[in-house]
Amino acid sequence: MEEKDFALNDVVEMKKQHPCGTNRWKIIRLGMDIRIKCEGCGHSVLIPRREFSRKMKKVLVKHEE
Ligand SMILES: [Zn+2]
Repeated sequence: MEEKDFALNDVVEMKKQHPCGTNRWKIIRLGMDIRIKCEGCGHSVLIPRREFSRKMKKVLVKHEE
C-alpha cells in the first residue's frame, strides 16, 4: 500500500464525510495515532495511522511553513 504524503496542520478530505456534512479535516496531531479535527463542527477523532492512511482521500490544503 502506498504511503500518502501528509503533514501536521494539513487539511484533508476523507473518503467518508463527517455526519455534520463537512469533509474537511485538519491534522492536529501526528504520531502512531493521528488526530483530525472537523473544520465544520470542531469535533476531533483519533485514528490509528494505518487506518487514517486508508480512509484519507486527498490533501486539500498543504500547510505552509
Ligand atoms: Zn463535523
